Amino acid sequence: MPNRRRYRRINGPPMMEGYKPFGVPMRELESVVMSLEEYEALRLADYENLTHVEAAKKMNISRPTFTRLYDKARKNVAKAFVEGKAILIRGGTYIAEEYWYRCNSCHETIVSPTPEESCEKCNSDDIIRIDGHNDPEINNTGSGK
Ligand SMILES: [Zn+2]
Repeated sequence: MPNRRRYRRINGPPMMEGYKPFGVPMRELESVVMSLEEYEALRLADYENLTHVEAAKKMNISRPTFTRLYDKARKNVAKAFVEGKAILIRGGTYIAEEYWYRCNSCHETIVSPTPEESCEKCNSDDIIRIDGHNDPEINNTGSGK
């Protein structure tokens, strides 16, 4: 693996695209956007119970950067809870060790060691890569590896 940039590493894509609150009519539903790194920061600190130092190491980032992501993630969750907003988990600057896709037809999350052209569940070819390949610097290294 090239050692010229500190990639933000994420263990795996979230199993859902986000959350919707109960009891808020769709037409009034607004959302907050949480990046995949923010999601990963929350997962490592509050679900895996890692210290910020350990979690930063896992994500290949500095401790202050980790804490910033983590604070942002918690603020987004709090905002969504208090204001009755949906949470969309998408975007960010990170690199995945594998190919990640999300199917636009059945919303399945696909993780594969090789490139895929269609959804393994519903066979739709309407799938999008969500493993961070959109970052041009990452593209230069080829294939999300
Ligand atoms: Zn599908």
